Amino acid sequence: LETAVERSRALQDELRRLAHFDELPGLPHRRHVLARAEAELRRSVRYGRPLSIVITDIDHFKQINDGYGHQVGDEAIRHVSALLAQSLREEIDMCGRIGGEEFLLLLPESEVTAAALLAERLRKLIEESPLRCGAQFTCSFGVAERDTHETLEALIKAADSKLYEAKNGGRNCVHF
Ligand code: GH3
Ligand code: MG
Ligand code: MG
Repeated sequence: LETAVERSRALQDELRRLAHFDELPGLPHRRHVLARAEAELRRSVRYGRPLSIVITDIDHFKQINDGYGHQVGDEAIRHVSALLAQSLREEIDMCGRIGGEEFLLLLPESEVTAAALLAERLRKLIEESPLRCGAQFTCSFGVAERDTHETLEALIKAADSKLYEAKNGGRNCVHF
């Protein structure tokens, strides 16, 4: 019974969040990024060009929400969105929010080492940019290249498992 009550409470929290929080502006949404990723992947296979993706997820985001409130949590998402967007090559790269506090970077013409360097730059930038209220937080990064993963599903799975490694490796780091 306790578990059922807990689950229902979690569901209620999630519904409240969905009802109250606007879609965060400035980034294309999941469906759009995935469609673009499919197209880039096909192009990369056909012409034998490199393509890498980076998946990043805010560390201990629950603590930001719980400690500072959901408004600040939302600000953190907007903050990361802006930092990611301004660090990418215009017209070439793309970045979108694929989950609550999770983002996908699509990097055509990038090999995994270049993608990992970019991820490391972003990791440092986020670590060193506190929110207006002074709250500081970090992100973990997983990177994968198309060469060994021929479908988008496999590529995302590979980057996801690297992200998982980064989380288990202490967070605030890049795995590739
Ligand atoms: P980890 O370092 O392992 O990623 O831990 P975490 O706390 O970041 O991960 P977890 O998945 O436990 O928590 C993510 C939380 O993010 C749960 C959810 O309520 C919250 N969340 C999801 N989307 C939004 C949003 O748009 N705004 C706010 N404020 N919170 C969100
Ligand atoms: Mg997280
Ligand atoms: Mg997450």
